[in-house]
Amino acid sequence: MSEKNHPLDPANPLVLSTRELPRGAGEMREVVREAPAPADLGLPLIGAPEGAPLALDLRMESASEGVFVSGTVTARVEGECGRCLRPIGETVVGHIGELFAYPGSTTEETTDEDEVSRLHDDLADLEPAVRDAIVLDLPSTPLCRPDCPGLCPECGQPFDDLPADHAHEQVDARWSKLAELRDQGESEGS
Ligand SMILES: [Zn+2]
Ligand SMILES: [Zn+2]
Repeated sequence: MSEKNHPLDPANPLVLSTRELPRGAGEMREVVREAPAPADLGLPLIGAPEGAPLALDLRMESASEGVFVSGTVTARVEGECGRCLRPIGETVVGHIGELFAYPGSTTEETTDEDEVSRLHDDLADLEPAVRDAIVLDLPSTPLCRPDCPGLCPECGQPFDDLPADHAHEQVDARWSKLAELRDQGESEGS
């Protein structure tokens, strides 16, 4: 039943084979590997570019109900500042801790289909866990620095690139002069 729509590819670095792991409490294997970032690993303003390397540093442990996979995934994320739109990049480390249930285990049989990760032919699909580990920690409004002053609302230039006394009074003055003339014209015409 749980085999539906899950032809996992063992050659995909985000698919973990648990075949080498003996079934028995306390059995453990370290898995250190690199994987290319899947598409859309991020939010609209920041994320890991597709294909960029993700560093996986994981351990899989035998548990009675399945295989517990834990560790870290490290990714370089790129995006733009939500205030000044300049490019930003940083390294994020996400934490993974996920039980992949054995087919037929109590956990698998008592938990809703979409609430538990399962092993399929002894393969664990790491992509959803990797996605959660990276994306959940990303800010929806990333900033180049916490006090980024953003863009000048008048000319759209980053305040950081403008002199400290940058202002648009001259333009404002000209507009008020025009408004004055227009007001005069209106009162003379009436
Ligand atoms: Zn900024
Ligand atoms: Zn300006």
